[in-house]
Amino acid sequence: MNKKHLFAGLVVLLVIALFGVGLFVGRANNRDVAAGQVINIYTSRHYGVEPVFQEFTKQTGIEVRFTTGSDAALRLRLQAEGKHTLADMYIAVDAGNLWLAGQDGLLAEVQSTILQNNIPANLRDTNNRWFGLTRRVRTIMYHPDRVSPEQLSTIEALTDPKWKGRLIMRPSTHSYTQSLVSSLIAAHGNAGAEAIVRGFVANETILIDSDTRILEALAAGQGDVAITNHYYLGRLLEGNPNFPIKVFWANQGDRGAHVNISGAGITAHARNRANAIKLLEWLSGPNGQELFAGSNHEFPANPKVAAHPIIAAFGEFKTDPLNIGEYGRLQKDAVELLNRAGYR
Ligand code: FE
Repeated sequence: MNKKHLFAGLVVLLVIALFGVGLFVGRANNRDVAAGQVINIYTSRHYGVEPVFQEFTKQTGIEVRFTTGSDAALRLRLQAEGKHTLADMYIAVDAGNLWLAGQDGLLAEVQSTILQNNIPANLRDTNNRWFGLTRRVRTIMYHPDRVSPEQLSTIEALTDPKWKGRLIMRPSTHSYTQSLVSSLIAAHGNAGAEAIVRGFVANETILIDSDTRILEALAAGQGDVAITNHYYLGRLLEGNPNFPIKVFWANQGDRGAHVNISGAGITAHARNRANAIKLLEWLSGPNGQELFAGSNHEFPANPKVAAHPIIAAFGEFKTDPLNIGEYGRLQKDAVELLNRAGYR
């Protein structure tokens, strides 16, 4: 046997060895999965969902498969697929889209005392078609070198001319902006909310379509105050504990800070309904909540579960008690209002 043959033989042996190890690893993983036990999910939430699903599989033997996309795209896909859909569960990162999915008949009612007990009434559908799983607070962020917390109070007060050219927000096309404006309509009526949005426009508010980039812009000195979801600051602080931006809980003297959810519902045509309900209930319990909310620095929807230490350090606050389904009901009004007011 010459050197060339010896080398080829070694390559063949190596391939067989690797393939063997591969089969072993595959089997080791499959040990947790019970035959035919599966859930298919459409999810617009993608931050750290995989370890959460893996833990559920480990505990129950039910395999979780998921497809990601935007809230609206996945909702429209469910609608187009109708009874042929493979999805058993729809996970969205905005109450407006969950409400619309419920209205459009894409989600089934779920009667579960576990879900009733774990999720507060204002964070779930009045007809039990969707349930909030994490709370995300859209509130005021500021650079402490240029703004003192004494200058801050409410979302509405950011229309004061003293903030002209200094405020950064998200564009009108994003569901976060639309739900925030829906909450202003619920609090002030259409005309009152429009006057507030016109105030943002008059203040030449800087629009940036990423909450992370908004916070980085604030840190870099482009603007002094902003409105973002709280967990983006949590994430930046985890990477850099000296990140200079501070959170201010808005509207503490009146209705409380604007809160949105990520949440889920069981699809109307789910083929694995029992398993999907099992996952939904598990996600609302202590184990699931800690993993699901904690992985993204969100507040658990279940009030019995503690928040991640980085966001617990942001301090106590109160939130708007409005049923978040209202963001869906008012979404069309909010979009029209933003257009009328010239908010891009
Ligand atoms: Fe987000």
